[in-house]
Amino acid sequence: MSLSADQQAEIAAQREAQSPTRRATVPALEAMLYEALPVLDHGFVRVIDYMGDDAAVVQAARVSYGRGTRRVQEDAGLIRYLMRHRHSTPFEMCELKLHVKLPVFVARQWIRHRTANVNEYSARYSILDREFYVPAPEHLAAQSSANRQGRGDVLQGEEAREVLAWLRDDATRTYDRYRTMLNEDEAGNAIDPARTGLARELARMNLTLATYTQWYWKIDLHNLLHFLSLRADPHAQYEIRAYAEALFPVMAAWVPLTWAAFQDYRLTAVTFSGPMLACLRRMMGGETVDQEQSGLSKREWREFMDALGRSA
Ligand SMILES: Cc1cc2nc3c(=O)[nH]c(=O)nc-3n(C[C@H](O)[C@H](O)[C@H](O)COP(=O)(O)OP(=O)(O)OC[C@H]3O[C@@H](n4cnc5c(N)ncnc54)[C@H](O)[C@@H]3O)c2cc1C
Repeated sequence: MSLSADQQAEIAAQREAQSPTRRATVPALEAMLYEALPVLDHGFVRVIDYMGDDAAVVQAARVSYGRGTRRVQEDAGLIRYLMRHRHSTPFEMCELKLHVKLPVFVARQWIRHRTANVNEYSARYSILDREFYVPAPEHLAAQSSANRQGRGDVLQGEEAREVLAWLRDDATRTYDRYRTMLNEDEAGNAIDPARTGLARELARMNLTLATYTQWYWKIDLHNLLHFLSLRADPHAQYEIRAYAEALFPVMAAWVPLTWAAFQDYRLTAVTFSGPMLACLRRMMGGETVDQEQSGLSKREWREFMDALGRSA
């Protein structure tokens, strides 16, 4: 992660400022506010603002006049009940605002989550930084032979070195050409005073998808949990998963009761279909059931066995 001295000073100044308020605050999240949590090679997430806490969820669920909280035990029980039974609207009462720096190809997956408010850095107005994602060697994987949306073994030796060099060289070359087309160097001076320079909105189209972009992203807690359940899942691409996982300590600090309930009832939970449950009941009754007798497809059976921690 690379932050300039100016950017670091701005963050430090923001962290120094104090505003007295009657609103509920969360000391553990206040301690993290504005700080950049590194993700991938140049990315980060920063919490810019938040509204509400676990008590706000409880307060909304009880439609109470005051804070609405009772003993922690009772609040935890209510939050766990809401989570278990997908009574989701109380979780919509809390909001989180993030500043995210991420490669464009990750942003394309992230932006599919339509229930957020987004404002992206304008590459029509400003010049993008010379930063592009190059995977760490351990993430340079082959195409999975079993899963068309997945990765297989990590590339080794000469092939790995060559691929890494191509990724770096191509991104560097297109970035250098971008600056040449803009006719503007890093200090803002004309590279060639005889040339006019292409508009920023056009010059950017040559850049690779590995180029980093940035946005402010605001979402309510219910939809944030939905985002995390999809993007922290092992089926999600590693690069977006890295961002989802970077948010785990933020969630634990901000809404510890909700986060614990979410982990138990969503993140580490599995859903069985009706036929799977019927199989499970037969198995628990002592019957030996195999895929052919189960009525499940081969793929469903594999997923069922995975969920039970057995080999298919
Ligand atoms: C592992 C993985 C693989 C994927 N592969 C592909 C792929 O190959 N191709 C592809 O195009 N996408 C793919 N996606 C993206 C996926 O289909 C969703 O677009 C993305 O995960 C956002 O989910 P969402 O719509 O539930 O979230 P949000 O947009 O945040 O919406 C949350 C919920 O609000 C409701 N909602 C929001 N907007 C509408 C609307 N306009 N109409 C009706 N209901 C709405 C829905 O109930 C939705 O679930 C993939 C996602 C994952 C996690």
